Amino acid sequence: MPDVTIIGAGLAGSEAAWQAAELGCTVALWEMRPVKETPAHRTEHFAELVCSNSLGNRSLETASGLLKEELRRLGSVILRCADVNSVPAGGALGVAREDFPRAVTEAVHSHPNIEVIRKEVTDIPESPTVVATGPLTSDALAEKIEALSGERLYFYDAASPIIHRDSLDEGRIYRASRYDKGEAAYLNCAMTEEQYYSFVDDLATAELSPIKDFEEDLYFEGCLPVETIARRGRDTLRFGPMKPVGLPDPRTGEIPYAVVQLRQDDAEGHLYNIVGFQTRLKWGEQRRVFRTIPGLENADFARMGVMHRNTYLPSNQMLEATMRIRSGEPLFFAGQLTGVEGYVESTAMGHIAGTNVARLARGEEPITMPRGTMMGALAHYITTKEGTLQPINSNWGLVPSVPKKENGRRLSKPERRQRQAQTALSVLDEFMQEGVKTAV
Ligand SMILES: Cc1cc2nc3c(=O)[nH]c(=O)nc-3n(C[C@H](O)[C@H](O)[C@H](O)COP(=O)(O)OP(=O)(O)OC[C@H]3O[C@@H](n4cnc5c(N)ncnc54)[C@H](O)[C@@H]3O)c2cc1C
Repeated sequence: MPDVTIIGAGLAGSEAAWQAAELGCTVALWEMRPVKETPAHRTEHFAELVCSNSLGNRSLETASGLLKEELRRLGSVILRCADVNSVPAGGALGVAREDFPRAVTEAVHSHPNIEVIRKEVTDIPESPTVVATGPLTSDALAEKIEALSGERLYFYDAASPIIHRDSLDEGRIYRASRYDKGEAAYLNCAMTEEQYYSFVDDLATAELSPIKDFEEDLYFEGCLPVETIARRGRDTLRFGPMKPVGLPDPRTGEIPYAVVQLRQDDAEGHLYNIVGFQTRLKWGEQRRVFRTIPGLENADFARMGVMHRNTYLPSNQMLEATMRIRSGEPLFFAGQLTGVEGYVESTAMGHIAGTNVARLARGEEPITMPRGTMMGALAHYITTKEGTLQPINSNWGLVPSVPKKENGRRLSKPERRQRQAQTALSVLDEFMQEGVKTAV
């Protein structure tokens, strides 16, 4: 009987298995491919990248760069294999699509504490386990997780872009709630008739990301992409997500021709999402078109709108920041299944879950990563978010901000980001020195 079981050898599962094995536990790692395929994977390698071969920006001025550096310092096997198999990709950490997952597979296979079993898992074991089966979890297991959660797993079809508040031109935006009801919770971007039709025409003809066969059935009428609504008629948006009724502009006292609303997305109010703007426009097109909205000219996107199949848990109701289930069983979740979005974010949750399942198996308390680190902040966000949890990338809105001025001088955004990153890395270093080091 192994000390721990890991289900799914994607990015999160491979990382979790490695960390648990490095902490001295014997690990059974179950992966269903190639016995049973997913609709997106093409090989039998572990940690296969189903789409882009980029693990995001390398720079410490980016949230993704910081997250990668944290994982490096913690001894991540995924980051080690990525660095060794990197390819020129400008500022990004691009990896050789075949060599990277092959390297992960070889590393994991050759670890003396890990036994690999190629079989679909259809039941959740009662012994210490990490479930890391990803957005394309097989149906049989998804049913079991659903039963455990007591509610339907969230089938996520679309999300609107999220913007950093400090990049908004607030002089062009007004705060109000429709018909003045409740707290003035929304930021509103008013459009004239001319601005509205120009925007709608642009939106309706902007370029879309290709849709794959397996995504077709996830197109829900109740949650249509904003560009699809725009194509149904030039006025349709004005009677839908851009309706201006009850939102007079306090600067003119008039009701604008159309309004784009922004809703606060995090507790601190650093992040705002564009209400009703779920989209499958290409990311470059989203930046181009959405930056024509008055007030969003310099919008800095924390997350672009995305549309693809995603199975994920209401982690904010089910999990602790250790990735353990709140009901007390020795069960952990990891990866995209926990409500994070992206390769590196999934790896990070794999690292936490793998470390903690091993600690539990060894009779130690699971650890919570400090919130001052990007990893800890992500874990905190997905397990405490109020209301409905929408999948989230690493972003600067999650970690403490730094003063905008230093010695009377206004810091540039890259300088502020560097300081945020250095602070987070100091927090991590201190945490590791305290002896709660997560890898040997
Ligand atoms: C179509 C698509 C495109 C994407 N594009 C990008 C992108 O460009 N960039 C990005 O950062 N992220 C992208 N993502 C998100 C990406 O999937 C995740 O970021 C990442 O792969 C998640 O890692 P994971 O380890 O949680 O899941 P995965 O990497 O999917 O790994 C899960 C593993 O579990 C296995 N498995 C599933 N069910 C079972 C079972 N019952 N028993 C045993 N094994 C099982 C699967 O075979 C798989 O190997 C995309 C996702 C999808 C679906």
